[in-house]
Amino acid sequence: MQCNVCSKETADLVAMRSEGETLMVCSSCRQSSVPLKKMEAIVSKVQKPEQLDLTGKGMLKENYNQIIQQARQKQNLTFEQLSKKLFEKESTLKKVESGAIKPEDKLIEKLEKNLNISLKEAE
Ligand SMILES: [Zn+2]
Repeated sequence: MQCNVCSKETADLVAMRSEGETLMVCSSCRQSSVPLKKMEAIVSKVQKPEQLDLTGKGMLKENYNQIIQQARQKQNLTFEQLSKKLFEKESTLKKVESGAIKPEDKLIEKLEKNLNISLKEAE
């Protein structure tokens, strides 16, 4: 077994819980009392690839905001009209379209359906 903190091969491991994740920690790491921040960083590193594998979906296209803007303008929709259609805040849509924030999966689905566009890379 490997220590999840220092990656050392050892049989002397103790399971420690952080953020709902179980980490195997060796005796020297336990003695040095690894700061919780480091534990959290390791947990998030461990979690991310798993989450991607679980969804199995393609990545958001780099020019997602341009695709949304073009589709919205093609349908002559204002932000206000689109926000009512999608039950989303106008400010959220503006931020998404300017590229300031990435839309969440739910919003991506709604945008794709309502604007008849595809925002994710093909697998
Ligand atoms: Zn260790």
